[in-house]
Amino acid sequence: MLEMNMKSPLPSCFPCGFPALFLFLAEKRNLIMRKNKKKGNNPSKMRCPYCGAPMILRSADGIYKDNSQHNTLYVCRNYPECDTYVRTRPGTARPMGTPANRELRVLRIQAHRCFDALHQNGYMTKRDAYIWLAALLQMPQSQAHIGYLSEYSCRKVIDESTSMLQRCKQHASNRINKVVIS
Ligand SMILES: [Zn+2]
Repeated sequence: MLEMNMKSPLPSCFPCGFPALFLFLAEKRNLIMRKNKKKGNNPSKMRCPYCGAPMILRSADGIYKDNSQHNTLYVCRNYPECDTYVRTRPGTARPMGTPANRELRVLRIQAHRCFDALHQNGYMTKRDAYIWLAALLQMPQSQAHIGYLSEYSCRKVIDESTSMLQRCKQHASNRINKVVIS
């Protein structure tokens, strides 16, 4: 009876009896991968959003002027006619966002620069800046990353980050003036 009451919430691995936490985690990971495949998130099946051709995983050599960091990219099969690609996370085959053409890449870089200024200048922590970004874009924090943004959202981030930075600077200078006067 006692044995039955003390039954572990995690199943044991048959036949060795090892606590099955690792099996549980592996199963969870498989479930996420299956879900992603169902949703069409399998990077190897990714298609170019501009011309519909498959995206090919390859080295960034010949695309980046300097690829001393050995980056890899998903590149549109019609490159360079269709100048679309997305970088992968270092050492993995996971894309760091969605494929982008030159115009969108430039906008994402600008948006990142404006957004990063908010936390790099110490006006807010990086965590708070990402919370602010998620609220601005009305997205969950897990999806509020500039690598996923459209041209419209990039422009919104550029405008709102610039205006937020101005307000932060103004607020900081008002506080300094108050301290000097008092
Ligand atoms: Zn393409």
